[in-house]
Amino acid sequence: MSDLLARVLCATPLPALARARRRDALPVLMYHGVVERPLSPACWHQLPLDAFRRQMAWVARHHRVVPLAEGLARLEAGTLERGSLAITFDDGYRNVATTAAPVLAAHGMHATVFLVSDVTGTDEPLWPDRLYLAFARTAAAAVDAPDLGLVAAPLRTPRDRAAAYATSVRALKGLPLPEKEARLAALLAALRREGPEDPGEFRLLRWDEVEAMQRTGRFAFGGHSTRHEILARMPDGQVAAAIGRSHEAVAARTGTTPTVFAYPNGRAMDFDDRARAALDHLGVRYALATVEGFVRRGFDRLAVPRLSVGSDLSFARFRLLVSGALEALRGRR
Ligand SMILES: [Zn+2]
Repeated sequence: MSDLLARVLCATPLPALARARRRDALPVLMYHGVVERPLSPACWHQLPLDAFRRQMAWVARHHRVVPLAEGLARLEAGTLERGSLAITFDDGYRNVATTAAPVLAAHGMHATVFLVSDVTGTDEPLWPDRLYLAFARTAAAAVDAPDLGLVAAPLRTPRDRAAAYATSVRALKGLPLPEKEARLAALLAALRREGPEDPGEFRLLRWDEVEAMQRTGRFAFGGHSTRHEILARMPDGQVAAAIGRSHEAVAARTGTTPTVFAYPNGRAMDFDDRARAALDHLGVRYALATVEGFVRRGFDRLAVPRLSVGSDLSFARFRLLVSGALEALRGRR
């Protein structure tokens, strides 16, 4: 949908009608990082601060923000207050503490952050971010990785680099874990970015920052695996460890046993019965997917849908998404 059409629709009664029809459902917003200035090449999961401010002001006008676990428990119990909404941040970027938290605090809003336990507190970027940084910073004018869909792919402009990153990260995510590691290493070598990469805006929280956020009472935390590998691509025997170790690290550092978890990548194909069994074994009540939708009574508690917000979403489309108007227009509800 064009932004012009979205703005026209925002001026009609459609968003308010859609919101009224969803008053008993829970929208769960999914963010990642929030940055002072837009990144170049364009980066979907680092939202500029001005957009985040505008979105939170809108949420404050139309919704009551509740802690995620509380909102889901109330929905199950049939005691969810109308207009409830929950906010989540995946991956645990440091800029959630430095850039997003002041905006949330100004509105008295609560948020849940999902941490990648082996990388939190290190100078290492997550592997997809390492690849993004390699494409952003490489001196190479072109790259060849035909097995990942790049054939003499030009790297002259930010747009070229964003396209080459998108193509190769998509291909890598589809591979079994050992093969992904080998192809990623080869691609980083081709870009001459094999060494440590300064994470810049992709720096993750330190554990003492996590603890400080926990103490404010405005944040809760959950596991998001140990190294952000896609669980369904992992060999048997590694899935339970990736879930269990991240869950236990969060519990130990925050002093609170998490009741929530988020699947890395989170599409239906990215997690399976092995992950569900591991979560049940740990007593994790809710696991969050990235599948788009509102959470409604009778929901699958280990595949909770969300509404994902990225830097390509205009303010008008954000309003249509969160009010449920986009879902209504697509005829899904
Ligand atoms: Zn993630």
